[in-house]
Amino acid sequence: MNLTSPVGSLPGIGPAMSQKLSRLNISTIFDLLYHLPFRYEDRSDITPVARLRVGETSTVIGTLSALKNAYTRGGKIIQKGLFSDSSGSITVVWFNQSFLTRTLKPGDKFGLWGKIGFFGHLPALISPEYELNSGNRELIHMARLVPVYPETAGLSSKWLRAKIHALILSGIIEEILPPNVLSGKKLAGWKHSLTLAHFPESLGEIAPARHRLAFDELFLLQLVSLIRRKEWQKNRLAHTFTIDHTRLKEFTSRLPFRLTVSQNTAVSEILTDLSGPKPMNRLLEGDVGAGKTVVAAIAALSAHLNGYQTLFLAPTQILAQQHHQTLSGLFDPYGVKVGLVTGADKLKDETLKLKIIVGTHSLISEKILFEKVGLVVIDEQHRFGVTQRSLAAGKGSSPHILTMTATPIPRSIALTLYGDLDLTVLDELPSDRLPVKTWVVPESKRGNAYSWIKSQISGSPAVRQAFFVCPFIDISESLTSVKAARTEYEKLCHVFSGYQLGLLHGRLKSGEKNGVVAKFRAGEYNILVSTPVVEVGIDIPSATIMVIEDAERFGLAQLHQLRGRVGRSHIQSYCLLFASAPTPRLKAMETHHSGIKLAEIDLKLRGPGEMYGTAQHGLPQFKVAGYDDLGLIESAKTSASTILPDLDSYPLLRDLVKNDKITLIQPN
Ligand code: ADP
Ligand code: MG
Repeated sequence: MNLTSPVGSLPGIGPAMSQKLSRLNISTIFDLLYHLPFRYEDRSDITPVARLRVGETSTVIGTLSALKNAYTRGGKIIQKGLFSDSSGSITVVWFNQSFLTRTLKPGDKFGLWGKIGFFGHLPALISPEYELNSGNRELIHMARLVPVYPETAGLSSKWLRAKIHALILSGIIEEILPPNVLSGKKLAGWKHSLTLAHFPESLGEIAPARHRLAFDELFLLQLVSLIRRKEWQKNRLAHTFTIDHTRLKEFTSRLPFRLTVSQNTAVSEILTDLSGPKPMNRLLEGDVGAGKTVVAAIAALSAHLNGYQTLFLAPTQILAQQHHQTLSGLFDPYGVKVGLVTGADKLKDETLKLKIIVGTHSLISEKILFEKVGLVVIDEQHRFGVTQRSLAAGKGSSPHILTMTATPIPRSIALTLYGDLDLTVLDELPSDRLPVKTWVVPESKRGNAYSWIKSQISGSPAVRQAFFVCPFIDISESLTSVKAARTEYEKLCHVFSGYQLGLLHGRLKSGEKNGVVAKFRAGEYNILVSTPVVEVGIDIPSATIMVIEDAERFGLAQLHQLRGRVGRSHIQSYCLLFASAPTPRLKAMETHHSGIKLAEIDLKLRGPGEMYGTAQHGLPQFKVAGYDDLGLIESAKTSASTILPDLDSYPLLRDLVKNDKITLIQPN
């Protein structure tokens, strides 16, 4: 038996209990040790029996005599006895627990904890918790600060307390952290910290103990990430590119804009990776509209100049189409033809020969000869890691991978979860952009808002356009959502009679979707009504108004992503949030325009579970650590990288790392 053994291997834990424990996310012995109390109940004062007062809840220590089963007038069975210490005696009563007369031996020393009430006319301890106190057995359920745990049906704190206490005393607890980490980070020993986190003598002891245990969790996660990173780099010499700076400069100088400072930094970080001997695995995180596409295009050009192909993966066909258009525009002057592969048509041989191929993620499953693919760009990927791993599973050398996202992942989370990715953040928007003016609009102002929108979007073909995001029903674009979208569309057709409106939802065939988007892009529609799944990444600079219904039902990150569909040129854009109440969370949208900042606010206000979905979406649910302690996360990361080369010298740690399940997140 060791730390990674299933809890079921512990004495007294059978399949039924294991099942219950799994509901608390406890499957191994290690998990059980990290199931920490969420509060501590102070049962430390021991009261002499003579001083017990009716109505109070107290701890007493003494002996029990004359415990007998008795029957009440109603015919119920009770257990009644006399409890004494040197100061006096009191009646004690339990109800319907006849086994007690067999288990509680007269003369044994007990602790009792419970409320003093009346039994008949006499003061009595009513149904107290009891605990044997004979020999040098330490009390854990009373006469101290008592841990109270997250529970589940049929699994009480008392049960958990006893199991965890026995576990801490058992020989299984050997220090898991390497001595130099322990001393370097000035952390308390493991056994000591576990003892104090579960059974503190005083409240002041809890924080340092939990700090140490939080470090363990983060440290293990970092080790797992680092191992993943090493695997990715192992034995796979990348295609080392020679960087032709002159040609690349020529390309950027022909762009209709100047790259921002952070775009330039991102480009040089990427080019450094590309010219190195290891395959790049970089996450380019940039707020909506920050201009990630052109950064990727420069990388693609570099691959081309080195004679390699680039695969450009988009999450949807609409986006694939958009990228195809953008990239074709950028590369035409160089005589580089850009291919487009959508789900409908099969990969043709000619397309396979093209130097840049845009498609949806399904491209990965096509039988492409990856030998020739030097770079894979993955746009708007939320489930980072999945594609990487399927690429890594392929034979031959790995391509360089650039993953791009506008999902604002706070740095603490990025570092925690993507220790295996290198991170580049585009932290500024092109300088010609104006912040999107944002208002939370109460229902009473709806009429005014509509009139104002009319004044903004007039003109045919439209020069200013508006998105209307329908009430949120569910993420899955069920028929109900689609119906709600149709109803909203019809309603708006009345309100905006004389204007052209388009409707976009997930149940349209992909050709129809493309048609709707193309018409909106061409200005044939003034308004595009859409379900909340407005395609991430759509870039239509003439759309300047974003209206969101039921805004309170969205996370700030989602609202920000939606708002990012406007404000994509130098024209002032607006975002109107209809909501039943102007909550502080929504109000944050009016004042904040950075996705990262908003994500951090959401993280504080709602917590990571709400924000990124629950465990089923894959965000590791820490038992002790938090995503808000950037200092500790970074410290765990540095320690993990120093230890990694010697991991084999620490078998306990190595086993724990091997056992760690790798999880992915999907922000929502
Ligand atoms: P995102 O980062 O959201 O994917 P895009 O790459 O779609 O953003 O770029 C948004 C818009 O900004 C595009 O129309 C693009 O041509 C433009 N753009 C990109 N970089 C700059 C820049 N440095 N200055 C001005 N406009 C830019
Ligand atoms: Mg984009």
